[in-house]
Amino acid sequence: MAISSRLPCSLDARDEWSRARALTLKTLHGSVETPIFMPVATQAALRFLDLECAHQLDYQVLLANTYHLLIRPGPEIFQRYGDIHRFMKWDHAVLTDSGGFQLFSLSKQISLSEDGASFRSYTDGRRILLTPERSIEMQKTIGSDIMMVLDHCVSSTSDEATTRAALELTTRWAHRSYTARGDSQQALFGIVQGGCFTHLRRESAAQITSIDFDGFALGGLAVGESKAEREDTTEFAAELLPADKPRYLMGVGTPIDLLEAVRRGVDMFDCILPTALGGQGVAFTSHGKIDLRRGVYRIIDDPLDRSCPCSTCARFSRAYLHHLVKAQEPIVSQLISTHNLTFYRSLMRRMRVAILSGTFRELYEREAPILLSSDTENPPVPPARRRALR
Ligand SMILES: [Zn+2]
Repeated sequence: MAISSRLPCSLDARDEWSRARALTLKTLHGSVETPIFMPVATQAALRFLDLECAHQLDYQVLLANTYHLLIRPGPEIFQRYGDIHRFMKWDHAVLTDSGGFQLFSLSKQISLSEDGASFRSYTDGRRILLTPERSIEMQKTIGSDIMMVLDHCVSSTSDEATTRAALELTTRWAHRSYTARGDSQQALFGIVQGGCFTHLRRESAAQITSIDFDGFALGGLAVGESKAEREDTTEFAAELLPADKPRYLMGVGTPIDLLEAVRRGVDMFDCILPTALGGQGVAFTSHGKIDLRRGVYRIIDDPLDRSCPCSTCARFSRAYLHHLVKAQEPIVSQLISTHNLTFYRSLMRRMRVAILSGTFRELYEREAPILLSSDTENPPVPPARRRALR
């Protein structure tokens, strides 16, 4: 594989049945083995959890957000502490999102121009202009290992003219971001837009991959399209990206989304779901997704998942967790999020091992039906337990 001076990338294995692959990336803060899920630490913290949890689970990259960190605590704090690693006490890699997604999700409060996006700070009302150059400057100050270009993301259900205008602005901003990176040793990824229009994805990919980025992301998915549209677009668009650089599907997803996208050749993921759903009482398990708000768990002695090594499963019954959810005890968000991040880490590790050992198809066929299932269609007691009770 091609050696990028900023993010050396080696191919460890390629699956023969699918497009799945296993890479090793060398960042400024350690090696990263793909396929990889990156927990979201938007404000330089995991939701509900100490970063020590991510250390113990051997997560290799966290995702932080330029838009939010620019507003608070602001660049001067990162300058004072050196970088985000020293500030939040995390010595592995960090990827920073550029703020592009917030320009989409907060679009009603933002005025967009060729130059960049202008908005008011939610802390003190001052006006901030986020340009491609300002975003890169802030990401350099944060000191992330992988920076993202500022892009213009629109809903994946937007019409063709809107989607085209967004991808063309994204390309112009990509050139400006690349120039702004200069001689920094931090890696920089380009972002392909184009919604669910095949010809627009093709145009965007041709334009963005003509720039010598260290990796490429698929943006503008998981923002309104169906699961089938997302999978079809991912499969088509991933093929348009260079084989010798990492591919990142932004903001995706559920465990089944990750399995489907790895099968289609994607290497990197981030999503708020493991902790966001953990905070709502929803857990991912080796028997499918379960919702602890449901009354069926009121007297269930089993842990969330008997095959899970996490501290929550080692100690607590579903009945106890159900009670904490109903009583709205804040600690339950931590307990379930710990389990969910353990589940995601374990899933990514199983996928990598399967790709390396040539057994990805077996893993896919065994796990896809389970990851698709939830307790609204399954009995609350795992099948093995029911057999034992008979
Ligand atoms: Zn667990």
